[in-house]
Amino acid sequence: MSADILDGRAVAAAVESELRARVARLASAPRLAVVQVGDDPASTSYIRAKSRAAERVGIKLAHHHLPAGTSLAKLEALVEQLNSSEHGLIVQLPLPDRLEPALVRIAPERDVDGFHPVNLGKLLRGEPALRPCTPAGIMELLERSGHSPAGKHAVIVGRSNIVGKPLAVMLTQANATVTVCHTATAELAHHTRQAELLIVAAGQPDTVAPEMVRPGATVVDVGVNRTAAGFVGDCAPGVAEVAGALTPVPGGVGPMTVAMLMANTVAAAQD
Ligand code: NDP
Repeated sequence: MSADILDGRAVAAAVESELRARVARLASAPRLAVVQVGDDPASTSYIRAKSRAAERVGIKLAHHHLPAGTSLAKLEALVEQLNSSEHGLIVQLPLPDRLEPALVRIAPERDVDGFHPVNLGKLLRGEPALRPCTPAGIMELLERSGHSPAGKHAVIVGRSNIVGKPLAVMLTQANATVTVCHTATAELAHHTRQAELLIVAAGQPDTVAPEMVRPGATVVDVGVNRTAAGFVGDCAPGVAEVAGALTPVPGGVGPMTVAMLMANTVAAAQD
């Protein structure tokens, strides 16, 4: 058996085309500011992908590129200024630890990454809020490709603040029964084998081997790992022979994350 491909590029293109139509009805283009500190090459390439998506949708993206030695006061002042002038604002991660306090200075209604404690708190309470893009993109991909999580046993490998934890909340609200695994989980395979829906966000290649997957399961591979052979996910290649459906890497979760950033920006502009 070879798994059906959950085509994130195609679903993201459909989301973008709906957004383009919404933007065309607005009096002016939504504005998104992306702040980058330093020259992390992965950040630079993610920002390029966001710029291209913004152009396709009709969002005006401004890239503010600051030197690695930027002070916290300077970054906070820029964030405050952009809170007033833009609809959406993100500070590209990773950020040096000393600059992290600037993140909570982003106004919650401008926080189109959905990472602000106010937005995460609203998510937990089931209130409308800007939602973190990667878990929101996974939910959208599952729903639009006919793999609704409702009533399923979902197992998540990973408990980060940007993927695993918010996804556990979203899946619970979508009526899945959720297990969250991490590095202190005893017998990871025992849990993953029970998953009808398996989401792997560990950041390590080969975290999930084929024998750890229940035959026919829907598998979402969030991982993006740079190797000598190019980008790979967190699932070993043989998982495609056991799963019923699988997201490719690249072309699965990545494009959906970018599409959700665009959706959050349009929503922020319409409020
Ligand atoms: P983090 O490093 O913040 O978190 C990884 C999580 O996985 C941790 O909770 C960790 O457990 C757990 N983990 C790691 N190894 C194992 C293991 N062997 N068994 C069980 N649990 C394990 O990563 P992120 O959540 O930020 O990202 C995860 C992956 O997703 C990365 O590859 C990242 O590049 C990718 N990513 C992709 C995106 C996209 O748009 N495609 C967006 C965001 C991330 P513990 O808490 O115990 O340390």
